[in-house]
Amino acid sequence: MSDTNLPERLDVLAVAPHPDDLEILCGGTLAKLVKQGYKVGIFDMTSGEPTPRGSLDTRKAEAEEARRLLGVPLRINVELPNRVLMDCPENRFKLATEFRRYRPGIVILSAGRTPAASPDHYQGHLIGEAARFYSQLTKWDERFDGTTPYRVPHLVYVPFPTDAEQRNWHSTFVVDITETFDQKLAAVRAYRSQFDDERFERVRHFIASTNGYHGFKCGYKYGELFALPHPVGAPDLVSVVYGSKPTAPPDVPVGQGHIPMG
Ligand SMILES: [Zn+2]
Repeated sequence: MSDTNLPERLDVLAVAPHPDDLEILCGGTLAKLVKQGYKVGIFDMTSGEPTPRGSLDTRKAEAEEARRLLGVPLRINVELPNRVLMDCPENRFKLATEFRRYRPGIVILSAGRTPAASPDHYQGHLIGEAARFYSQLTKWDERFDGTTPYRVPHLVYVPFPTDAEQRNWHSTFVVDITETFDQKLAAVRAYRSQFDDERFERVRHFIASTNGYHGFKCGYKYGELFALPHPVGAPDLVSVVYGSKPTAPPDVPVGQGHIPMG
């Protein structure tokens, strides 16, 4: 593929194993990024099917509906295998090829090990990290469908809240999703084959609790948690500390802001 045929470059690309993972993990942030004017894309590594109540066509239609509800212009299925997703060279090549095509500035990658849910989640974490490294490699263009090497400059983890590990993630941060929380719920609701009324009520409670907890710690009604693979750089201590709170602090006496646990 020549460079002139490449699609438009993405500011932010979110990647996870199954259609519905990203809606649950960071749908509020994706909708917010779109509103902020960033070019956003979603990669589903697999179709997410088979599942007990879904089908390929149904899940595809639900993913498209969720994409529309979040306002994300691009959603690609990388077509790796569901249920038996494994970190292996071929799967790394396939995802890295798409990184080389879409050249994202930031990759948001679902992360963590979920022993009570699909093992695809942890394998997807490993494939995503490896593909991010592979996409920059030279002298292997034939393994990447002839695409040009591209280095993804920034990787951001979006951890599964049910991650089994007690991880010491570097640089966790919370995005305020209060404004887009309803959009997020609507996008999750689009997956009716996965969440009937009863299951949706449970997942809605889980999402509201998790996002409420993360948001509360930073003074937001609802927030989504992210982490960097390294400490955050701080050219200016004051802007980093003040920027993380919803109120401008100088005229708020210490301990008397509206953040009881700040
Ligand atoms: Zn999943």
